[in-house]
Order: sequence, then structure tokens, then C-alpha cells
Amino acid sequence: KKIIIAIDGPAGSGKSTAAKNLAKKLGFTYLDTGAMYRAITFLALRSGVSDNRDKIIEIARNSNLTLKTDNGLTRVFSNDEELTDFIRTPEVNSKVSEVSVIPEVRTEMVKIQKRIGEKGNVVAEGRDVTTVVYPNADIKIFLTATIDERAKRRFKEFQAQNQSITLEEVKANLEKRDKIDSSREVSPLRQAPDAFVFDNTGLTPEEDLEFLYNKIIE
Ligand code: C5P
Repeated sequence: KKIIIAIDGPAGSGKSTAAKNLAKKLGFTYLDTGAMYRAITFLALRSGVSDNRDKIIEIARNSNLTLKTDNGLTRVFSNDEELTDFIRTPEVNSKVSEVSVIPEVRTEMVKIQKRIGEKGNVVAEGRDVTTVVYPNADIKIFLTATIDERAKRRFKEFQAQNQSITLEEVKANLEKRDKIDSSREVSPLRQAPDAFVFDNTGLTPEEDLEFLYNKIIE
């Protein structure tokens, strides 16, 4: 049987790390759905149309996104151009929530995600993978952690990339994204009723992985 594991949760909850590690341990494909919304956001910013809904939809429809996982990093390509290095910047971070509320953009992304899911043995991560993309996933996990913990994690990631941003700015940005993501009408961030909720505040990625892996093979 082809298994789908879907992991959802707020920004900075560690879902990328957990999904990546689980996929590696299980020998499954890792699907980073956020990378896809980030790619569309970057393309819109680069074309100077990030406030033009129709243009963003057009970009999403013509994006021909493909993903490749390389050593745990999701590489994203649009029409064969590699965008990997441009999708995890503060500019994209602060715009991506707005782009991803556009229903037509979601329809396009979900289409691609379902196609990847059909190949099976996938660990998919991102907003709405447990509810909209794979409502019949074999295992659903909703990961969460406190806002301070999540801000600290994101801050460390930016530091590692030498991005000049303060912890307070990261926290404010996360709070803003949480708010937009959970209150929006289109695909709000919410727990699937059959998801297993796990708060990993204070856990290392290794401890997180061990817990989830044991839960899954139960
Ligand atoms: O997971 P990541 O931080 O890369 O996601 C970036 C943003 O993309 C999220 O804050 C959310 O606004 C959007 N997103 C989404 N649906 C998904 C994945 C991400 O709307 N399935």
C-alpha cells in the first residue's frame, strides 16, 4: 500500500524538519508544499506584480513547478529555472501569506500536490495538507510549539543565512503570519479532527523525530 503522512502546523513549529527527517528515516518522498507557495511569491515579487491578483494567478498557472529533494533541501524549479536560493528570504516571508490566500493559486498548487501524492509513500508538510490536499492521508500530525520557541527557531535559521533581522522582528512576523493564516476564509490553518496534535516545545529535532517515528509505527 502507498502511504501518505501529512504534517500540518503553524510557521516555525518544526514541521519541515520533522517531515524531512521522517521521510529520510522511512525512505519516503518529502513534499514541502510551502516551497511551492514561496516560489510563486518570489516570481510575483520579481515581476513587480505581487499586489496584482490576476497577474499572480497567471504566474501560478504558468509556473510549471517541479521539486527535487537534495540532502533534505527542497530545490524548486519553475519552467526549468532553479529558484531554490530566492524563496527563503525575509521579502518572500512577509508576502507569502497574502499570495497563498488566493483560491486560484491554491487550486493550482493542490493539483500538483495531489499528483505527487498519487505516486505514494510521501511525507507531505504544510498548511492544509491534512484537510484539503490529502483528507484521506494514512497518518495526520498537527505539530505545534509556543510562539517564543517558534520565533527562536526561525531566528536561528536567519542567523545561519547571515540575514540581518532581530528576534523581535522574527516574532512579529510570525505573529502576523499566524493571524493571517488562521483567520483567513480560504483554507485557514486548522487541525483536522483526526490529526494527532503534538507540541514539541523544548524538544530537539532528534527527540521530535523519535517520538513521531514511534507514534507512526505503532
Ligand atoms: O512552510 P513555509 O514556512 O515554507 O510556508 C510559507 C507560507 O506558505 C505559509 O506561511 C503559508 O502562508 C503558505 N502555505 C500555504 N499552504 C501550504 C504551505 C504553505 O498557504 N500548504
